[in-house]
Amino acid sequence: MRISVEMSHYPLTENFRKIQLVLGDLTQQNVEAIVNAANNALLGGGGVDGAIHRAAGQGLIEECRTLNGCETGDAKITKGYNLLAKHVIHTVGPVWRGGMRNEPELLASCYRRSLDVALENGIKTIAFPNISTGVYGFPKPEATKIAIQTVFDFLNSHNEIERIVFVCFDNENYSLYASNLGEIRQNFSCNC
Ligand code: ADP
Repeated sequence: MRISVEMSHYPLTENFRKIQLVLGDLTQQNVEAIVNAANNALLGGGGVDGAIHRAAGQGLIEECRTLNGCETGDAKITKGYNLLAKHVIHTVGPVWRGGMRNEPELLASCYRRSLDVALENGIKTIAFPNISTGVYGFPKPEATKIAIQTVFDFLNSHNEIERIVFVCFDNENYSLYASNLGEIRQNFSCNC
């Protein structure tokens, strides 16, 4: 019995080691791909999208023009141009409209599809912003839980991913991520 409990904790411990929490700027992350919280047109915008386009340079918008936009909950990949990251994975989060329009499922889909696209391109280190929690208005506590849960679920079934960085730009998001990750550690007595 004891052994089986320890064994069931093994993947959780392993997965925790792959997750990093950072308070900072997504565009400065040294990973193979950063994920952009884009809009359906994929033609740039404000917030993290604007910061990524400014840091990447003109090549990024030119490549984005060839992609024919992106559905909410889906993801598409481009090169990273002047960024440290070799790739940008553009995903489109849901606009929060009260929670009855499939927003949680669509947000989870953003994380899953971004990770699918990463794996299809041999990418093993990925940094995420807090998708939809800016101008799209998704409540931060719920968005945090969805992000963490979806990433853990994905890691459980995809061993190839080596590192996931959650990059928070504001203290509120950072605290939410820190306390959620802390709770998971405690609940599972995770030695990590
Ligand atoms: P959305 O439209 O998906 O809400 P936003 O860009 O408005 O996208 O916000 C998404 C999250 O990205 C917000 O929590 C915001 O604080 C954060 N953000 C904005 N700029 C940056 C940046 N340079 N690096 C990391 N996160 C950022």
